[in-house]
Amino acid sequence: MGKNSMMLTGVRKSYGGLEVIHGIDLEVEEGQFVVFVGPSGCGKSTLLRMIAGLEEVTDGEIAIKGRDVTDLDPSERGIAMVFQSYALYPHMSVRDNLGFGLKMARTDVAEIQARVSAASAILKIDHLLERRPGQLSGGQRQRVAIGRAIVRKPDVFLFDEPLSNLDAELRVSMRIEIARLHRELGNTMIYVTHDQTEAMTLADKIVVLKDGKIEQVGSPREVYEDPANIFVAGFIGSPR
Ligand code: ADP
Ligand code: MG
Repeated sequence: MGKNSMMLTGVRKSYGGLEVIHGIDLEVEEGQFVVFVGPSGCGKSTLLRMIAGLEEVTDGEIAIKGRDVTDLDPSERGIAMVFQSYALYPHMSVRDNLGFGLKMARTDVAEIQARVSAASAILKIDHLLERRPGQLSGGQRQRVAIGRAIVRKPDVFLFDEPLSNLDAELRVSMRIEIARLHRELGNTMIYVTHDQTEAMTLADKIVVLKDGKIEQVGSPREVYEDPANIFVAGFIGSPR
């Protein structure tokens, strides 16, 4: 068993008295690629946003690298999140989009330059640094959005359906890119998707969610070959 990277204990979330996440316990090992998968509305984004600190937990505890982060601001948690909507600044160059968060955190200029260069080399976007987001393809924009997470050197990367705005062909190539990124960086990654193929091909560990509860946790093979129940069998087994 590897070093513990993240631990959720009894995590719950209610909106206006209605509970949507019902007590999640989950341990993630250092460097693991963990995929949260489940149908729309099952609570994947809410869970990820609580880990990121973008939503408060109603009850329970979240620890990252052994540190209780339950009440910390997003910037203090050692995480970086990649959104499906990219959320790039349209009036800034790719270079400035990549460096903006570090600039706000008062990182010194030479360090920003070094990290932006390293991230753009990893993502193969060196030649796009002077362009603006409007001059990029969807796949290139998604690379910049991932680059913005990389420059922050997080302990844990969080992805919320990062490929769902891309067409089918690009989705496949970006999926391969993300797998490569995980191999090269070696970070813990938590990845949310409703796409079974993405889950099966990317995950070291799959967490199948339904109605705010965990139905099964296991390797893709375990979940596929030995589903815990009919829901998991149907969800993982059947094509979309
Ligand atoms: P998923 O990402 O798996 O599609 P979500 O985490 O977005 O699911 O939503 C889980 C449940 O929580 C849904 O029933 C949704 O309607 C509800 N929910 C999410 N965000 C809010 C909110 N801000 N206010 C009230 N209910 C919400
Ligand atoms: Mg969602």
